[in-house]
Amino acid sequence: QGGNQGLGSWPRRRARLSPGAVALSQGARELTYAELADRVDRWASALTRLGVRRGDRVAWLGANDIATFEAFFATTLLGAVFVPLNTRLAPVELRYLLEDCEPTVVVIGGGVDQLEGYSLSRMAELVEAADPLVDEPEVALDHPALILYTSGTTGKPKGAVLTHANLTWNTVNQLVQFDLHEPDRALCIAPLFHAVGLGQITLPTLLKGGRVEVVTKFDAGTILELIHRLRITSFSCVPTMLQLMAEHPSWPDVDLSSLEHVIYGGSSIKASVALEWLDRGVAVLQGYGMTEASPGVYMAVHDGATEHPTSIGVPHFFTDVAHRSDDGKVAEIELGGPGRELLIRGPHVFAGYWNRPDETNDSLVDEQWFRTGDVVRSDPDGWSYVVDRVKDVIISGGENIYPAEVEAVAVTFEGVRSAAVVGTPDERWGEVGVAFVEPFAGARIDEQALRRHFETHLARFKVPRDIEIVGELPRNATGKVLRSALRNNLRPSDSPRENK
Ligand code: ATP
Ligand code: MG
Repeated sequence: QGGNQGLGSWPRRRARLSPGAVALSQGARELTYAELADRVDRWASALTRLGVRRGDRVAWLGANDIATFEAFFATTLLGAVFVPLNTRLAPVELRYLLEDCEPTVVVIGGGVDQLEGYSLSRMAELVEAADPLVDEPEVALDHPALILYTSGTTGKPKGAVLTHANLTWNTVNQLVQFDLHEPDRALCIAPLFHAVGLGQITLPTLLKGGRVEVVTKFDAGTILELIHRLRITSFSCVPTMLQLMAEHPSWPDVDLSSLEHVIYGGSSIKASVALEWLDRGVAVLQGYGMTEASPGVYMAVHDGATEHPTSIGVPHFFTDVAHRSDDGKVAEIELGGPGRELLIRGPHVFAGYWNRPDETNDSLVDEQWFRTGDVVRSDPDGWSYVVDRVKDVIISGGENIYPAEVEAVAVTFEGVRSAAVVGTPDERWGEVGVAFVEPFAGARIDEQALRRHFETHLARFKVPRDIEIVGELPRNATGKVLRSALRNNLRPSDSPRENK
C-alpha cells in the first residue's frame, strides 16, 4: 500500500464529493469541505516548517475549535500523531503528560497559561504564510494517528495509541449503526481530548459529508438553543449533560423533533433521565466504550431502546466480545448468565499504551483480547448491561457488592442528585460500603429515611454501613465520579463509625 488512505486525507477526499457542503461551523464561522481541505494543507505545511515529521507528536491544548480539526487532520496527513490534552488538568499533570508524549509542537488554545507552546494566533499567522505542502509522506493505515489519554478514573491517565485503521473501523461501526447523510447536522459537544468527542458522531458525520457544529463549552441552555435553531440531527455526550439539559428551564419549550439519535455513554445513566428524553420522542441510545476502543464497543439499537432504557445494547458490527473466566481464560458470554469482566477484540481496538509495554501486556489475554476492566452481563435476549468496574467491586463477607447497583438505588430517593459508593476496610466483613450522596441544590436528605430506602430495595449485605451527605462529589474532566479519590480519603480512623 502506498499513498495516504489515512485520516488526514479525508477532507480532500470529501472535497471531491461535496466541495461546497459545510463541514464545520462554530457560531458565525463556516468552513466547506473544499475550504477545510485547503486549510488542512496549509496547516500541514506550517507544521512541517516547525519541524514536524512522520511519527512526531503534535500536542493540542485548548477548547474544541474548528482549528482543532484543522490541526488534527494536518497532523495525521503528515503521518504525525495528534495528542489532544485535557484542558482541565492542573499544570503539573499536563507537564507529566507532555513529558510522556514528548511533542515536537504544542499548540495552546485559549484559556491556558503557564505552559509553553505556540498560541493559536501565532499558529494562524504561520498557517496564513504557509506555502503549499510538498513532499507528502506515505501514511499506512496501521500507523499511529492519535494518542488519547484515558480519563484517569482508576489511576494515572495512560496514552492509548490509536492507528488510522482503528479510527476508521470505529467509524465504520458507527455508520453501520446510524444512517448518517450529507445533510445531517451534528453537534460536537464532548471535548476532543476524549475519545467520544472525535469517534462517536464527529468523524462518522465528516466521512459522510454532514456538518459538524463545534461547541466550545458545554452549557445546557446554549445546547438546547442550538438544537432548536440549527435543527440538529445527532450528538453524543455524557449522561450528566443529558440530565442538565432535562433540568434546564427552557427544556419544555425546545423543539427536539429534528433529533434522530442522541448517544450517551462514558458512565451509567439514571433511568429517569433516559426516560425523560425518550418520553419526548427522542431516541437516546446508550453507548459503551473506552478510549482504547476508539471508542465504540456496544450500542443500543433504535428498536427496543425504550424497553431497555439502561441497557448498552449489543456489540458493534466489527467488535468481538467474550468474558474472562474466573481462571483468567477467554470464555463465551452466556446470555442470562452472571456478569464477568468483558474482553474485546476488533480492528478498532488500540495498538497499545504509549511508553508502557508492561501495562499493554497486562491488558491483553492471549495477546489479542483487551481486558476492559468492566463487568458486563447480557440478558437472555442479548441486551447487555454494564455492571461495574472490576476495581470498584466491594467484597463484603465473601459477597460481591457492585457500587453501581447501590448508587442506582440511591438516586431514586427524593432529593438525591448523584451518589458514589466505595469500600472501606472492616474487621468483621473484610470490607463494607460507604455511600457518598450529593443532593440537588437546596434539597435536604434525611439519612435515616435514605437508609430505610436502601433496606427496602437492597439485600442486607449491600446496604451501605455509612451514609455521608456531601456538597459535591469529586469528578474528573468528563464528569465521572472519582470513587478512587473518595476511597483514598476514607481512612478507617476518619470513618464516622469510630465516633459512635
Ligand atoms: P482510566 O482508564 O484512566 O481509569 P476511564 O476508564 O474512565 O479512565 P475512558 O476510556 O474515558 O477512561 O472511559 C472508559 C470507561 O468508562 C469504561 O471502561 C467504563 O468503565 C466506563 N463506561 C463507558 N461507557 C459506559 C456506560 N455506558 N455505562 C457505564 N460505564 C461506562
Ligand atoms: Mg479505562
